Amino acid sequence: MDLSKEYYTSLGTKCNILQMVKLEPEWAANRLQEGEKRFDELCELKAVSQPGVAADAERCVHPQGYIKSVRICGLCGEQL
Ligand SMILES: [Zn+2]
Repeated sequence: MDLSKEYYTSLGTKCNILQMVKLEPEWAANRLQEGEKRFDELCELKAVSQPGVAADAERCVHPQGYIKSVRICGLCGEQL
């Protein structure tokens, strides 16, 4: 854990990220959810960039490769 980065609370108090989580839990929750969103988007992008693997699989086993907008697995190309 990197505690060297400085943060400022809504009252302008300088602190590290651990203190920030305690003092500004809503800020922390927002940051977490934004991070989760970005991570999901990154997973979708990665799935799109490597199609065509295991196309003969009887049933798709890649829930992480599912691309909702086109209802296809980006890892094996199977329609879901
Ligand atoms: Zn798949």
